[in-house]
Amino acid sequence: MSTNDPTRNRTALVLVDPATEVRSSVLELLTIARGLGRVEAVTLEAPTVEVLAQLGAYGVETVHQAEVPTDALAAAGGDGARHLPSVVGATLAAAVRRTDADVVLAPATFGAKEAAALAAHVLGAGLVIDAAAVGEDEAGRVVAGKRVFAGAWDTRCVVTADVAVLTVRANAVVPEPAAAPVATEVDPLPVALPGTAGVVVTSREVKERAPSRPTLEEAAVVVAGGRGTGGDFGPVEKFADAVGAAVGASRDAVFEGWFDRYIGQTGVTIAPRLYVGAGISGAPHHRGGMQASQVIVAVNADPEAPIFEICDFAVVGDLTDVLPQAAAAIRAHRDA
Ligand SMILES: Cc1cc2nc3c(=O)[nH]c(=O)nc-3n(C[C@H](O)[C@H](O)[C@H](O)COP(=O)(O)OP(=O)(O)OC[C@H]3O[C@@H](n4cnc5c(N)ncnc54)[C@H](O)[C@@H]3O)c2cc1C
Repeated sequence: MSTNDPTRNRTALVLVDPATEVRSSVLELLTIARGLGRVEAVTLEAPTVEVLAQLGAYGVETVHQAEVPTDALAAAGGDGARHLPSVVGATLAAAVRRTDADVVLAPATFGAKEAAALAAHVLGAGLVIDAAAVGEDEAGRVVAGKRVFAGAWDTRCVVTADVAVLTVRANAVVPEPAAAPVATEVDPLPVALPGTAGVVVTSREVKERAPSRPTLEEAAVVVAGGRGTGGDFGPVEKFADAVGAAVGASRDAVFEGWFDRYIGQTGVTIAPRLYVGAGISGAPHHRGGMQASQVIVAVNADPEAPIFEICDFAVVGDLTDVLPQAAAAIRAHRDA
């Protein structure tokens, strides 16, 4: 579904929030947007110099910075309220009206999904949540590919409305800068909130990310541990660090208190390029959150483990033997 016709007269708006760093998932959106037409960005706060340079490298000529009335923000709990989905949704709608954009692309975070839905409602736009691929059909309509029913079906959604609003999963494409960088201008975008923001922010804490590990939702490689670790996530974490992966777990491992975040239908949904599950049986609830991964590797001591039914590579063995050996082999290969 590649769409790289530079003559296309379409504008694609990309949500960049927060504007203090452009995450890899947003660079992917900018790459997809360039394939759809002219790219513009929208932010909720002043972009830093580094962010402007990155946006320019990805071909963004204009970034629209929301100007939300301070009294509306104060009523909603202060400056942190500018990231509320109701405010972001109103900003996206205002940006579409200002730019006459045809497509809005946002990351597939919970907040961005809610904002995308609100903006699509206000604009009467077509909405696709959790797209894994974006392109267009023969008639020039925006088409999104997405996996549904716990990854069991691949669907193709054609947006028939004038405006398409899509949230796109991380790892949909490999981020690629534009052939030539451009200078990015900041354009103030007045945003009127319809009534109140709906909720009041009472406290907001931005958590520092461990600099050495990617986030679970956006990582290209995820290594997950289950009850088969017996509570020792050391081999899982060491292997993850050898391949630059994020670490996750099954729900049972988290409920045992062995790790803090779990993957699955009631946990984090991921679609990395590579998922490695160690000591995880592959229960349906877990599969629902990882089955959309592009390549699945399972390490399990039981040759009958259900996860082997859905994996691309099966390693039957004790994870405390397999993972350290695999990590050592990867390091040796890298150092060679
Ligand atoms: C409403 C509801 C929602 C749920 N949502 C989720 C969810 O979102 N995510 C989720 O993960 N679960 C969820 N669950 C729980 C889910 O049903 C399973 O119980 C859970 O995923 C099992 O975790 P596990 O694979 O780590 O453990 P187990 O099923 O006990 O599997 C452990 C595996 O480790 C293997 N093993 C043992 N020792 C070793 C070793 N040394 N080396 C290698 N392999 C070894 C075993 O052969 C086994 O296959 C939910 C359950 C309910 C009821």
